[in-house]
Amino acid sequence: KAAPTKRDYETLVELDKKHFLHPTSPIKQQQEDGPAFIFTEGNGIYLKDIHGQELIDGLSSLWNVNIGHGRKELGQVAAEQMSKLAFSSTFATFSHEPAIELAAKIAEITPGDLNTVFFTSGGSESNDTAFKLVRHYWKLKGQPEKKKIVSRRKSYHGVAMGATSATGLQPFRDFTTSLAPDFYYVESTPESFRAFIEAEGAETIAAYISEPIQGTGGVIMPPKDYFKEIKSICEENNILFIADEVITGFGRTGTYFGVEQFGIVPDIMSVAKGITSGYAALGGVIISEKIHQDLIDLSDGLFMHGYTYSGHPTACAVALKNIEIIENEGLIDNSKAMGEKMLEGFKRIQDKHEIVGEVRGLGLMGAIEIVEDKETGERFAEPLAPSIVAESLKRGLIHRGVIYEGADTLIFAPPLNINEEEVEKMIQIIDEAITAAK
Ligand code: PLP
Repeated sequence: KAAPTKRDYETLVELDKKHFLHPTSPIKQQQEDGPAFIFTEGNGIYLKDIHGQELIDGLSSLWNVNIGHGRKELGQVAAEQMSKLAFSSTFATFSHEPAIELAAKIAEITPGDLNTVFFTSGGSESNDTAFKLVRHYWKLKGQPEKKKIVSRRKSYHGVAMGATSATGLQPFRDFTTSLAPDFYYVESTPESFRAFIEAEGAETIAAYISEPIQGTGGVIMPPKDYFKEIKSICEENNILFIADEVITGFGRTGTYFGVEQFGIVPDIMSVAKGITSGYAALGGVIISEKIHQDLIDLSDGLFMHGYTYSGHPTACAVALKNIEIIENEGLIDNSKAMGEKMLEGFKRIQDKHEIVGEVRGLGLMGAIEIVEDKETGERFAEPLAPSIVAESLKRGLIHRGVIYEGADTLIFAPPLNINEEEVEKMIQIIDEAITAAK
């Protein structure tokens, strides 16, 4: 076969429909309409499509392009690493500098004694690894019956078998007929968790997992002091606490990691996305020194879990450069400052529109609730978020509407290098889109 030449737009659309099964997608609509956009370039907070239209990437693509698009330094680092050592394994006792340097850097920036990293290729692999790790840990400790994983309703932890099983959002679980056993969901109150422990027995529970702020569920903030209470319940009952920082890590909430906002240090942390700002596929699971030492001391000698791409040299080199940019350009402080501006803008929208209920945000994660009745918070029978999202798109802003499980919520998470003028532009578009969709 000859190498493909540059194709015309209509051909690309037909090939997309026929040959490309899109992840988490409206499968029938894709067959009817083809791709909504075929993107060709990115620069700062903007994406450009094949027709030259520029759109604000109001969700940092999938909450991951933290440093913004088009950073040539990352391309350069990747090219240099690929030319020098494109790949070598980290299985067994083989190693390489990018993985060592990145592991050390992550130990430095993560809170408390979270000092050892296991690398993965993304968030789902990170959470599956965390679930296997906690079960392995309790097995080594002589308590193999301690294997239940508890997560929260409305949580999202990814789509690998364990990650989906831990996901509290029903539509993701309904996709398949059977899931992994021993996964349970609790309401977001300490009482619900306590009642679960009471009913099941702490001796059967391996770990509790939660996002510091639930992202996919609709940027849902935890109740005040919730995590402090959950952490002490975990400690009282010998249950490990896994923080899923896949979205909230690397500056998203205005601190390096989301848990810092709530004054707790988890036993295990899952990361991905912002670790490379999406410039390469990488994730990780960071464990406490205590767990690491137990894994060594109690082991029969073999650690039987690893992905081919655990610690991929190019991805690690890209992550190191990405973290350097986050630090050198003060993007965590900018996330806090611009997050405050974004929330101020949401409040102006709330004051102006009858159909805007609660607005909320922390750093550059924010949400606007659409309601029929501002007083009672009652929602429309038919959610408005999809038409508002469509109106935003027409005006050059990409963001998401959440309508799972009765929600009618607009969610936002722009790149951390957004400036004040760009925040204002987003606010203006959201304001117009709500007016148009009413
Ligand atoms: N955990 C959280 C909190 C996420 O938001 C996501 C993805 O959105 C994942 C895990 C899964 O990550 P990935 O899509 O990289 O597998």
